[in-house]
Amino acid sequence: MGYPSTSAENHAALVQTVRDRFRCPEEFLDFRLAGELSPAPAYFRFGANTTCYGRSWEEDGRPQPAPPLRDLLSCVSVDGTQLVLPFDPNEIIDNLRLERYPGCQLNERERTLKNAYYWLRPVTNRWIRSRVQRFRVAGWQKRAFPRWPVDSTVDNLCENLLLLALRASGVSSLPFIWFWPNGARCCVSMTHDVETAAGRDFCGRLLDIDDSFGFKSSFQVVPEGPYSVPPAYLSEIRDRGFELCVQDLNHDGRLFDERESFLRRAARINHYAEEYGATGFRAAVLYRKPEWFSDLEFSFDMSIPNVGHLDPQRGGCCTVTPYFVGDRLELPLTTIQDYTLFHMLGERSTALWKLQLELILARNGLATFLVHPDYITGPKEQAVYMDLLAVLAALRERENIWAALPREIDVWWRARNSMSIVREDNSWRIVGAGAERAVLAFAKNVDGQLVYELANPQRGELLDFRTHRRQRPQDGCTTIV
Ligand SMILES: [Zn+2]
Repeated sequence: MGYPSTSAENHAALVQTVRDRFRCPEEFLDFRLAGELSPAPAYFRFGANTTCYGRSWEEDGRPQPAPPLRDLLSCVSVDGTQLVLPFDPNEIIDNLRLERYPGCQLNERERTLKNAYYWLRPVTNRWIRSRVQRFRVAGWQKRAFPRWPVDSTVDNLCENLLLLALRASGVSSLPFIWFWPNGARCCVSMTHDVETAAGRDFCGRLLDIDDSFGFKSSFQVVPEGPYSVPPAYLSEIRDRGFELCVQDLNHDGRLFDERESFLRRAARINHYAEEYGATGFRAAVLYRKPEWFSDLEFSFDMSIPNVGHLDPQRGGCCTVTPYFVGDRLELPLTTIQDYTLFHMLGERSTALWKLQLELILARNGLATFLVHPDYITGPKEQAVYMDLLAVLAALRERENIWAALPREIDVWWRARNSMSIVREDNSWRIVGAGAERAVLAFAKNVDGQLVYELANPQRGELLDFRTHRRQRPQDGCTTIV
């Protein structure tokens, strides 16, 4: 993996990831590199709960994420109103979101195991398979990084930098475009990957279940997989207002094994995307190679987990916020899959999902769920799934939560990404297509803490802040909503 050389003059480029995340006016962000970066990437910290990986000022950084890691937060200095940083935030954030840190790729032993697993899969039952999978992830609880059960390193890093920028520029608050439309506190999305004929045949019932809780969801269908895909099946999903996405090509777990065969498969996948009218994609078993995403003609991808300790391909993108990989939008999977919960952890309750949801809510993030129709045909599992929907429905009742289809999130995030904030008389205004759904927010430095405030959703009236302040459960930022 090669890193672009970052020259000290490259000020504007340095702020890019932080600016894109907040969509704030560029005048508030002014970063400069402290000096030459060490040639070897390594782990370091940047404040509490923020383990970073990449090149930095630190000459002997650690090759492992184990403590004690040097905290480079104290190495940031201010020159006039400019922040002088000991690393390039874009590089660090890319390393995390694109999983360019050690241990994310399959090693030789894991690759052999994976191939044997898929070869034997047709003749093994679920009990044997779950035993093999448990063996494969043995010792996962000991992994310090990414952080289980939700990792928000990228979100922490961006917030830390924004707070430092506020301090450096000497202003008490800066405007930005709120993350979700109409001031929603966070976004929730339900997705279903269909794995087998039994799963496909359960989809009619699943549509009814989701509808009964007032949720629409997306179905990821395998076009050349172990089950046939009749047109009537696809149109039922579409006609009832649910979303159809493409899942892999044939679900053999080998999509990204080899470049030539990937390109042949990608052409088939792109053909099905057009046939299904699908704008979203998810690879089988969350296998992934973001460098190849551009060959898949989708608007968004959903194949990268937030933390992949229990997935066959480890790693994790360390964020609960959508992000662009080239011009593909990534909607990370931020909660545990049903299969993993039921068959690898042996859990039949929503406790872990609720904990993850709470952590994601605290970051105003995106909570995405993956529940397979195949694994909730049994009464116990179905009851747990319905409990989860009840939790989400109650949350939606109580708070301003945006429950959205993946394609709606894609459309919103793209629109937000091309909006900007302009100064108008003595206030700020969001401009750009779709700005009527956007809400102006302010990031403030309150006693050294980053606090978000939302302006009155009616544009132009910026004085009427809602003032119910809620303290986050963890360190980090407080949101006033
Ligand atoms: Zn699948």
